[in-house]
Amino acid sequence: MAGTLNIAVCGAGVGGLAAAILMARSGHTVTIVEQFDEAQPVGSGLMLQATGLAVLRKMGLEADIAALGSRLDRLWGLSQPSGRPVLDVRFEKLREGLFGLGVQRPMLFDQLFVASQREGIGLLTSKRVESVNAQTGDILLETGELLKGFDLVVDALGVRSPLTRAPRKELPYGALWTTLPWPGSGPFDRYALEQRYRAARQMTGVMASGRLDAASPETLTYFWSIRTDQYESWREAPLANWKAEAEQLWPETRPLLNQITSHDQLTFARYRHRTHDDPVSGPRLVHIGDAWHAASPQLGQGANMALLDAYALAEALGSAATTAEALTHYKALRKSHIRLYQLMSWLFTPVYQGDGQFTPWLRDYLAAPLSRIPPAPALLAAMVTGAFGSPLKKLALRD
Ligand SMILES: Cc1cc2nc3c(=O)[nH]c(=O)nc-3n(C[C@H](O)[C@H](O)[C@H](O)COP(=O)(O)OP(=O)(O)OC[C@H]3O[C@@H](n4cnc5c(N)ncnc54)[C@H](O)[C@@H]3O)c2cc1C
Repeated sequence: MAGTLNIAVCGAGVGGLAAAILMARSGHTVTIVEQFDEAQPVGSGLMLQATGLAVLRKMGLEADIAALGSRLDRLWGLSQPSGRPVLDVRFEKLREGLFGLGVQRPMLFDQLFVASQREGIGLLTSKRVESVNAQTGDILLETGELLKGFDLVVDALGVRSPLTRAPRKELPYGALWTTLPWPGSGPFDRYALEQRYRAARQMTGVMASGRLDAASPETLTYFWSIRTDQYESWREAPLANWKAEAEQLWPETRPLLNQITSHDQLTFARYRHRTHDDPVSGPRLVHIGDAWHAASPQLGQGANMALLDAYALAEALGSAATTAEALTHYKALRKSHIRLYQLMSWLFTPVYQGDGQFTPWLRDYLAAPLSRIPPAPALLAAMVTGAFGSPLKKLALRD
C-alpha cells in the first residue's frame, strides 16, 4: 500500500493484538485502545486449530505457544447413560500429523501481548470505547474524551462491541468453566477433548490446556453446560446439589469436582450468535473477530477466526493501493469462510446443547453411526479444524 496509516485497534483480545502486531510489522503506526486498567485475558481455555496456528506460525509465535500448549488429536464424546459414542473426530483422518492445541487463554494472551510490546505498539488502557465515526475515524470514549486523527479504526471489541448494529442472539445455553491441575494419575485422555452428554440438556467436558509458562504445572479446563436462565438458581443452591448431578453424568470427574469448593471457582460464559453482514462500516471503520461474527464455541473456531481475520486485514492493507480497496479485499478474503462456519455453528449447537429430545436422539442413533462411514470421518475433521472453505489457501498460508 502506498504510504503508512495511523491505525487504532479497539480491543486487546486475540484478534486485536494479532492485527496490531501484523499491521505494525507492515510499517503502520498502531495504537491499541482497551477498556481494562491492565490488558488482560478473559475466558476459558481454548483450542487452537491448524487455521489459527498457521497465523501464529507466520507471526513467529507458534513454536513458543505449542511448547506450552497440549497437543489434542481427537474430540471424543459419549452419550449417557448408554455410553454410546456420539462424537469421534480424529484430526489425522483429514491429514496425518494434524492436531489441535489446548491452551490457557492467559498464556496465549501473554505471548501476543509481549510480541505487541516488542513492536513498540502504543497501548491506551482504561479507555472504554463508546462509538466511532466511520467517516472521520474519531473515537468517542465513555468519558466523553475524543481520540482523533486515525486513518483507520479496527473494531476488535468482541461480541459486545458497541460499534456494530448486528443483533446479538442470546443462546439459551452457556457454560460454567474452570481451570484445574492436570491429574497425573488419569483417567482422562490427555490427547482428547472429552465430553459426556445426557440428551443435549446436559454436557460436561475436560480438555488438557497446557501450562501458563514453563515453570507452571500442566492444567485442564473443565466445563459444564448450563441454561442461562438457570444460572442464578444454580448460584443460590448448595454446590453439593450440582456436584452430585455432575458426578452422575461423568463419575470419573469426581476428583476434579472435589477441588471445586465455591461457586466462584466456576466462571459463567454466555453464548451469543451474531453475524454482521458487512465487516466494513465506512471508509475508516472495519470489524474483526467476534465483533464481526460470534457463535457458540461448540465448533471451537472463534479465536482461530479472529486470528484469520487479523491476518487477512493486514495482508489486504499490504497489497492494495488504497484503504478502500484494502477493506473490500479483506471482506472478500474472509466472507465465505465466515458465512459457512456461522451456518454450521448455528446448525450444530442444538445437537449438543438444547432442550429438544428428537435432535439428540437423531444424533445418537442415526448421525453417530453414519459419521463412522468414510468419507464422514475426514469431513468431520475438516469441519472441526476450520478447513471447510479453504481459508488458508485463500490467504496463501498453506505450508
Ligand atoms: C467458554 C468459551 C470457550 C471458547 N472456546 C474456544 C475454543 O476452544 N476455540 C476458539 O477458537 N474459540 C473459542 N471461544 C471463542 C473465543 O474466545 C472468541 O471467539 C475470541 O476470544 C474472540 O476474540 P476477539 O479478539 O474478537 O474478542 P475478545 O477476545 O472478546 O476481545 C475483546 C477485547 O475488547 C475489549 N473491550 C470490549 N469492549 C470494550 C470497549 N467498549 N472499550 C474498550 N475495550 C473493550 C475487551 O476487554 C477485550 O480485551 C470460546 C469462547 C467461550 C466463551
